[in-house]
Amino acid sequence: MGGYFAAASKRDCVFDLFFGTDYHSHLGTRRAGIAVYGNEGFNRSIHNIESAPFRTKFENEIHDMMGYLGIGCISDYDPQPLIVRSHHGTYAITTVGRINNTNELTEEIIHNNNMHFLEMSGGKNINSTELVAALINQQDNLVEGIKYAQSRIDGSMSILLLTPKGIFLARDKLGRTPIVVGEKLDGYCASFESFAYLNLGYHDYKELGPGEICIMTPNGVKTLAKPGKKMRICTFLWCYYGYPSTSYEGVSVEKMRYNCGHLMAKRDQPDPNEIDMVAGVPDSGTAHAIGYANESGIPFSRPFIKYTPTWPRSFMPTYQSARDLIAKMKIIPVHDLIDGQKILLIDDSIVRGTQLRETTQFLYRSGAKDVHVRAACPPIMFGCKYINFSRSTSEMELIARRVITQEEGLDVERDVLYDYANPDSDRYHTMIEGIRKQQGFSSLGYNRLDDLLDAVGIDKENLCTYCWNGKE
Ligand code: SF4
Repeated sequence: MGGYFAAASKRDCVFDLFFGTDYHSHLGTRRAGIAVYGNEGFNRSIHNIESAPFRTKFENEIHDMMGYLGIGCISDYDPQPLIVRSHHGTYAITTVGRINNTNELTEEIIHNNNMHFLEMSGGKNINSTELVAALINQQDNLVEGIKYAQSRIDGSMSILLLTPKGIFLARDKLGRTPIVVGEKLDGYCASFESFAYLNLGYHDYKELGPGEICIMTPNGVKTLAKPGKKMRICTFLWCYYGYPSTSYEGVSVEKMRYNCGHLMAKRDQPDPNEIDMVAGVPDSGTAHAIGYANESGIPFSRPFIKYTPTWPRSFMPTYQSARDLIAKMKIIPVHDLIDGQKILLIDDSIVRGTQLRETTQFLYRSGAKDVHVRAACPPIMFGCKYINFSRSTSEMELIARRVITQEEGLDVERDVLYDYANPDSDRYHTMIEGIRKQQGFSSLGYNRLDDLLDAVGIDKENLCTYCWNGKE
């Protein structure tokens, strides 16, 4: 996924930029960077954060940085921000999103303009941020360039672009990813996560609408392109990605997770004689479990605890096998709470199922009598096309799709997949039972999509649900 932060200040903005970017560390695992513009022009630094967190990598060199305008990012893929010299002048740019038509756009730019691309991530992939810059440079001014890039990209792309005159903020066309603006006496900041600026003394100023383009300076934020009417913000931000203390579209992540648990328990009506405790898979399952426990009256408990002091999320390697191993290493059982107990365990979602199966087996090995599993969102049926959903690389890795393949073979009509996604269909129940058996759960239930959307509580039309129902 990735996250970003920008600051425009009448004083040096580097302190705010450093902490504001650091507060996005839960959104990416691979690269981080900051770029500032000040008395000595542009200054930029990028580091690999796979082996050490953002703060460790940047804390020494920020003392040599100074600027009134700055952008920073935590990136799951490409090194950024990039500094670009173009007919628009020199600018720095960072992005969050996904481009599905990279090859088509790259070929077009190379052949029409005799241009080249330098930033080849891993020696083979075009750096998405460089491609966005190349698209922006096709037009006469930056606003038209950003609009052109947004119109040509199949996928989704939010952009922060730093020039000597101010920072351009451009939310993706359908608002899948947020850009919120904070204000304080010295200036303004822009952020992916709304909580990231509160401890820096900013208060909420505005949230950009879908496709909106603004310019942010120390003196104000001006809209240069009005927001569109259609929005499809990523619902997964609330279920999993977002930090609990953040809000999107005015809806708190933590509160939404309580709502999810509450609605699941209401549908389940669990028998307190059959369940001794409700637990959440840390961290993002915890709040869903609190909501479930509060509604059902069954006590919330922590039968295993994550060891966090030396395992911040930014240490997570990008290879799945190493991620699985580290996820396991982080969890420590509390045997006294597990032995002989009937546990209802809630996770935010089930993607491939590997980690959850291991967690369940580990609970059984630690003496649990039953492990009932609930997922706070519906079965994930379709790969995300918009934000590089980092926990799945292909649709056929999704546990729901693997079970459907066992039932139907490899060639499955789209309408059949839709039927599997319908919680009132027979096929849905066959799929759930197939997953339960494979995973070794005592019982398995998923939140329904209508309840999930009710838990968010904004107009349903404004929420992206593609990964659950395949609807654009
Ligand atoms: S497909 Fe899923 S993960 Fe991707 S943007 Fe939509 S809701 Fe978010």
